Amino acid sequence: MTTDAWRADGHSVGLVPTLGSLHAGHEALFRRAREGCSRLAVTVFVNPLQFGPSEDFAHYPRPFEQDLAVCERLRADAVWAPPIEEVYPPGVELPSPDAGLVGEAFEGASRPGHFLGVLKVVHRLFDVSGPCTAYFGQKDAQQLFLIRRMVDELHLPVELVSCPTVREAEGLAVSTRNEYLSPEEREQAGCLFLALTEAAELARGGERDARVLVAAMAREIGGTDLARLDYAAVVDEATFSAVDTIEAPARAIVAARFPSARLIDNLLLPEPAPEPAPEPAPEPA
Ligand code: AMP
Repeated sequence: MTTDAWRADGHSVGLVPTLGSLHAGHEALFRRAREGCSRLAVTVFVNPLQFGPSEDFAHYPRPFEQDLAVCERLRADAVWAPPIEEVYPPGVELPSPDAGLVGEAFEGASRPGHFLGVLKVVHRLFDVSGPCTAYFGQKDAQQLFLIRRMVDELHLPVELVSCPTVREAEGLAVSTRNEYLSPEEREQAGCLFLALTEAAELARGGERDARVLVAAMAREIGGTDLARLDYAAVVDEATFSAVDTIEAPARAIVAARFPSARLIDNLLLPEPAPEPAPEPAPEPA
């Protein structure tokens, strides 16, 4: 195995799992991995287990030659694009880590079984790679939360690095599924980031009632012609459970369906801005 040979030579292994169709969000992970590790391995695998029966597995873009060119440009040392039977060898029962209740909320509620598929493939990729540092995007915050919990609970020899969401100039999170959008939908897709920004502004202004933030986000997305709100919530950063009152670091999360694609996004909420210091009393004349 390539990664074993690297470690034997004293290299540190950076791993970036992807579904391929590589874009600026993936590239940011590759760059982080290149900075943090002396070897970079990218996996490209459209994992059937994380797609629901009515989802886009068959249509998910697979521009493999283009992906290889991106990996080469960003100096990946290895690209693993396995056939399905290499990931899931017939007759071999692989571990199926539990996604628990968090795995059934939000993305899990809209996409039943999704996180079981994600954890199964990520566990398998970690197992094949061996000890490594693995890079994931905050764009998929719930996924990252569940992977972190799996690594902790199963004591996997993997260090996780969480990387900020890469956005288009107008704020839309870069995503493979943005490609599905018509020009009109794409313009309106900005409502997700607008909603999150409104929630962040409210939090910065001192609003601690999460329901106020949720209502503002729902109004923004619900008022957008082509968007249908799937969920808007504020979750505790440590538990990924919805909160009514913000008392600890919290994240606003949203999902919306457009006619051609379902999009998700999230933003860590800022602490309230400090009260401005009182004006100093004027010096006596
Ligand atoms: P995917 O190929 O969509 O499964 O994504 C592979 C990795 O890239 C995951 O860790 C994602 O969270 C991450 N990712 C996807 N989009 C972005 C983005 N816009 N910014 C940062 N990371 C991203």
